[in-house]
Amino acid sequence: MKLNLKTIVAFISSAILGLIIVQVIWINSAIEVRKSQFDEEVRGSLVEVTLQIPKVVRANQEDIFYQRKKQLDPTVKDINKLISAMLGSTPFQKVSEKITEKQLDSLIKNEMLKRGINTDYVFGVYDATTGASLYKQDSMTAAFNKQLITKGINIQFFVDEFMLKQPFISIFFPKKNGYIFRKMFLILSISLLLILTVIYAFYYTVNTIYKQKQLSEIKNDFINNMTHELKTPISTIQLACEALTDSDMNSPESQGTFIEMIKDENSRLKGLVDTVLKTAILDKGQVKLNEEPINLLDVLNRVKDNFSLKISQLGGEIKIENDLPELIFEGDKQHMTNVFQNLIDNAIKYSTEIPKITISTLKTIDKYIVNVTDNGIGISKENLDKIFEKLYRVPTGDLHNVKGFGLGLNYVKSIVELHGGNITVKSTKDKGSSFIITLPLNK
Ligand code: ADP
Repeated sequence: MKLNLKTIVAFISSAILGLIIVQVIWINSAIEVRKSQFDEEVRGSLVEVTLQIPKVVRANQEDIFYQRKKQLDPTVKDINKLISAMLGSTPFQKVSEKITEKQLDSLIKNEMLKRGINTDYVFGVYDATTGASLYKQDSMTAAFNKQLITKGINIQFFVDEFMLKQPFISIFFPKKNGYIFRKMFLILSISLLLILTVIYAFYYTVNTIYKQKQLSEIKNDFINNMTHELKTPISTIQLACEALTDSDMNSPESQGTFIEMIKDENSRLKGLVDTVLKTAILDKGQVKLNEEPINLLDVLNRVKDNFSLKISQLGGEIKIENDLPELIFEGDKQHMTNVFQNLIDNAIKYSTEIPKITISTLKTIDKYIVNVTDNGIGISKENLDKIFEKLYRVPTGDLHNVKGFGLGLNYVKSIVELHGGNITVKSTKDKGSSFIITLPLNK
């Protein structure tokens, strides 16, 4: 079974999506486990606290007895009076008097810390039958009273033998979720990082594959084009050579014709090879500009003259709009001529109408702006930024017979940039294009 790229991308995308879903479910259940683990630990701490409460209550009472003993009147000898003076109302004290809120809080805090729990909590002590609060509630506890009763962790405790009903402590953690999240932060961030890495790696790989695919298509096109272009001169030269060796066609006139043919085709071959070599040299950064003060106006006029005949044969026109007497510029005359030659050649090539080409010039304080505008087939938005790439040709559909290797604009851009300038393009599909070259006056 041969899978195409789109199917593979769809497969991997769904696999990644599945992985993300599994990961989210896993993280969710890990959080739940952590929450119940937390609740268990809190419950354990509270059990410990309840075991310590009677000891604290007893110590408190011993303290009271000790104080009272110190205050006993030594003259009283009646044992009943002495006992009642010692006991007072101690057995009937409220829970809040037997153990203070502060003592309870300190027991709880201690036990929590022993188990490594150090987040804020509120607690309340309630009557097991009526549910009434047994401690005066501070504003903090009051604010969380409802949560304490509904969501809090409850545990009954034993105060002393004098209490008939056992109260219960309820504890609630307002910042529990944040606390658990912080405890799991490392594992959560590693998970997130891994997911993001997988997504990015996948995106990067697919992007690279697509780019490679595009490149290989472009290269194939180029090879096809080139082979096609080479075929004609090669077979013409071969035919001419055969004719030259044929004794029947050996008259001096026909010999001359065949030799001319070979010469022409040979220079065509040379032209083709030169185009490719020029780009290779540009790529390697080995182009040396022969810079000198040149008049750009002369360059433009020369290019215009070169194309005038061809354009008038097509019934079109080419004009230069310029108000300046001269456009002096430090640059390489030959390369600058090639630049405008390429642009005008394209303007004619990529036109289904009668070509109307305008070259306009403008001078600002620090630069020349030369605009080459045509009424050709235009370039769609998605191709606009690609046309300067090496070997890139806009897929033209019915115009595929237009010859070219996708090297011209790449050359133009490189030469303009070597001169310190830049080239941009504005174009509307089916309306025409405008290539704007900016050249700095002072480099
Ligand atoms: P090519 O050898 O294909 O002409 P170029 O680098 O000169 O290569 O141009 C790249 C592509 O840009 C061309 O294939 C063509 O589709 C598009 N293009 C260039 N100039 C024009 C223009 N004046 N009008 C419309 N399309 C153009």
